[in-house]
Amino acid sequence: MKRACCVLLSLWLLLGCCGFVSASDDEPHTHIYGDWYTSVDPTCTAEGEERRDCEGCDAFETRPVGPLPHAYGDWYTSVDPTCTDEGEERRDCENCTAFQTRPVGPLPHAYGDWHTTVEPTCTDEGEERRDCENCTAFETRELNPLPHSFVIDPAVPVTCTTAGKTQGEHCELCGATKTAQTTLKPLGHAVLDENGDCVLCGAHVKDLCPYCHKDHSQELFGGLTAWFHRLFYRVRLLFQKG
Ligand SMILES: [Zn+2]
Ligand SMILES: [Zn+2]
Ligand SMILES: [Zn+2]
Ligand SMILES: [Zn+2]
Ligand SMILES: [Zn+2]
Ligand SMILES: [Zn+2]
Repeated sequence: MKRACCVLLSLWLLLGCCGFVSASDDEPHTHIYGDWYTSVDPTCTAEGEERRDCEGCDAFETRPVGPLPHAYGDWYTSVDPTCTDEGEERRDCENCTAFQTRPVGPLPHAYGDWHTTVEPTCTDEGEERRDCENCTAFETRELNPLPHSFVIDPAVPVTCTTAGKTQGEHCELCGATKTAQTTLKPLGHAVLDENGDCVLCGAHVKDLCPYCHKDHSQELFGGLTAWFHRLFYRVRLLFQKG
């Protein structure tokens, strides 16, 4: 009887132990995950993976880690720009074949010196031009007209019988007038007395009327007119002396 009890007790203990062991292996439990760690390194072309393991069993979780950004180097010129066409800059990823490009604006024109294409005059603007040394582009700009080259037109003194002129000024290149000359009519003889001598030029002009400076000899009733004019002349002389 005592022996049977021992066997039963041992069996119970054995069963109990088996039950305990089986409970620790198979019974569902709440996983206790540790920290995420990188299990597969991402690159710039492929995703990587992160993983965390349960501290109580072999269970684990994974999640993707996005690809790394490309590791671009410095920009360098891949196509030289000219003054007519854009160039190109490029930079390459140091870890894969990816690259980026961007346009580089055209170069400015390389203009040479200005040279005159149309000479200016005193009436018209001239033109000068400069050409690009690398293409057919060119620029033009106006040249200011030259100043006039004025010369004096000398005065011509008026006489009793010939016309005169005042002093003028004109451009000897284009003829433009700065100061116009005025024509002065002949003065006409200034008869002083009955001797018929002109007081200005000394010419003997006896045949002319001292009053109106005309020759009345050929006129109808010229003698009568001349008589009256001589009378008027004397009267005027009297008043001038008076
Ligand atoms: Zn677990
Ligand atoms: Zn890359
Ligand atoms: Zn050019
Ligand atoms: Zn001129
Ligand atoms: Zn005169
Ligand atoms: Zn007269």
